[in-house]
Amino acid sequence: MVRREKLTGLVLSKRSVGEADRLLTLFTREQGIKKILAKGVRKIPSRRGGHMESLTEVLTVVSGGRGRAYLAGVETLDYFQELQADADASRRAQGMARAIVNLFHEEEKNEGVYELVRNTWEAWPELAAAKRDLLEVGTLMVLLNGAGLLPRLDTCSECGRGKVEDNTALVLDALIGGWRCLACVASLREASNSLTARGLAVLRFATRRPNQLLNIKIEEDESGQIVRVVRRYMMTVMRMQDEWQFQSKRAGAVN
Ligand SMILES: [Zn+2]
Repeated sequence: MVRREKLTGLVLSKRSVGEADRLLTLFTREQGIKKILAKGVRKIPSRRGGHMESLTEVLTVVSGGRGRAYLAGVETLDYFQELQADADASRRAQGMARAIVNLFHEEEKNEGVYELVRNTWEAWPELAAAKRDLLEVGTLMVLLNGAGLLPRLDTCSECGRGKVEDNTALVLDALIGGWRCLACVASLREASNSLTARGLAVLRFATRRPNQLLNIKIEEDESGQIVRVVRRYMMTVMRMQDEWQFQSKRAGAVN
């Protein structure tokens, strides 16, 4: 039996499949990540194909059952024009889209994350650089939290110290899912991902009061350092997720 349903979603990516088809990856409000095949959209000029740009919000009609979803109709709800026209903001949004694809599973609904990502895409173009960084940090932390991968921020995972002196640094490490003071870090190579005491305070604040994060007074060089550390953390998490998926697929193939 062919099932039809309406799904609202943010277009995270689209790629060509074969001669004329396109595979869309949406983060839907109703079902989380959803991969939808749009048949014949490149060969035949199609109304269905005209409205599917990445980083937009669409209303789709999807047919098919579990594991097989086909696009039967689409209408764009929000083009995020300011975002699309802003190179810096759309670069940030693309990074966020990759993180969502990587961290969340199909059929894993998360309306809170959906709303937050939507609002972030809308707000970014209007903000100055330091606030853009803060919003990115806050949203990435919420994504990590939603995926159950939030770093432990309370104490050094080596010595258990919770307080970091003002003039020293610490290292955020995705492999241990937390941080270590610089004195506890074995190799200086890891120190490239270092954060100041104030940076740690900002991250703690971001997890406790995400809605008030933009009220923090911060300079661009400081916010830039924090966002770079969180991005690097996210990239390591994503690489680990990839490896884990690869391993479990391989294990599945053996069994
Ligand atoms: Zn320590």
